[in-house]
Amino acid sequence: MRFYMPTDVYEEENCVVNHGADLAKLGNHALIVTGSHSAERNGSLHDVTRALATHGIQWTHFNEVEENPSVETVMRARDLGLSRGCDFVIGVGGGSPMDAAKAIALMMRHGEADESYLFDAHAKTDPLPIVCIPTTCGTGSEVTAVSVLTRPALKKKSAIPHRIFANLALLDGKYLASAPRHVLANTTMDAFAHLAESYINTKATPYSRMCVAAGVREWARSKDVVLGKREATAEACVTMLRAACFGGMSIAQTGTSLPHGLSYAVTVHTRMAHGKACGFFLRNYLAEADPADRDAVLSLAGFADVDDFEAYYRATCGRDAVPDAVLALAVQDLMTNPAKMALAPFAVDETVLRRIAGIGEAG
Ligand code: NAP
Ligand code: FE
Repeated sequence: MRFYMPTDVYEEENCVVNHGADLAKLGNHALIVTGSHSAERNGSLHDVTRALATHGIQWTHFNEVEENPSVETVMRARDLGLSRGCDFVIGVGGGSPMDAAKAIALMMRHGEADESYLFDAHAKTDPLPIVCIPTTCGTGSEVTAVSVLTRPALKKKSAIPHRIFANLALLDGKYLASAPRHVLANTTMDAFAHLAESYINTKATPYSRMCVAAGVREWARSKDVVLGKREATAEACVTMLRAACFGGMSIAQTGTSLPHGLSYAVTVHTRMAHGKACGFFLRNYLAEADPADRDAVLSLAGFADVDDFEAYYRATCGRDAVPDAVLALAVQDLMTNPAKMALAPFAVDETVLRRIAGIGEAG
């Protein structure tokens, strides 16, 4: 049994500015990787540049990471970083910029390689130093070894085989204060999916379940905020960010399971947000699980049963109709990934996957 968490994690108010010296230890010229707008609006980008300036570190800003980042974006950022002489990477934003930062840090070490390097399971994993600063409360990418990329040419989204942990994660709840409710709803749903899929998982251990239990307890404290019944206070923002981080620590041990595996095709074909797409399959995944495991997760989260959870999903994320043809593609996609299927602690075949996907069920 192993519990491995190599990322140095700090969580506090003004975390980025307070830890400028830790940033400065990682290099002389940072490539800051963000999405198009949010990092400027929520203050995180300003904190990063202020911290770097204080310590005499140069930076170059790449702000073109789209949701569900593509390999093309990673390659463009790699080229920019190399042309400016950057020697470490700071991912600021949701899972998209943080996942992109990990892949960019790897490709910057291999300036001559093409994108196939990213998907080569036998290639060396030796990224430049990486810092992750989350501004959503879902992926936990700041503490996972995973980078999920979209390959538009193949119409596929998948985790790259390289395991890449950030060196440093800096968590400050204040960046969530400006997040609209749908971003909170979708990303907290992702965090819950991580926690539930890690608990109900063949690789679960008492150590990973310690993280899940702590994470679900934190997560449950903000349900009212996501439902719009209570304001997103500073304390609530910290709670949501921490729940997501604990979820990340949980899946760093076990991996995610069937709902995540099914979600990727739905996101690629319908553009459904990641967390909402994972939540889409969660009721039915929980329904298949061993009752003791299922009830442990649901009761910690304050849900009476799977239908109570589903009502929460509908109230927060909304349940969209997904064509059966797309759900069938999701099932086929997952059938090509036996390692992911093996993480479900019950027998899984196409019939079970179709049941979890809800094929044939209306809305
Ligand atoms: P995201 O795709 O990073 O961002 C979603 C949206 O939220 C973007 O429009 C972004 O705007 C905006 N946003 C970010 N922070 C904000 C803030 N503080 N206030 C207002 N808006 C904000 O969303 P995500 O759900 O965090 O990440 C999803 C990605 O992570 C997917 O690709 C998924 O596959 C991956 N993922 C990775 C792991 C892992 O272990 N590594 C786990 C689960 C999921 P801007 O574009 O302007 O920034
Ligand atoms: Fe996820």
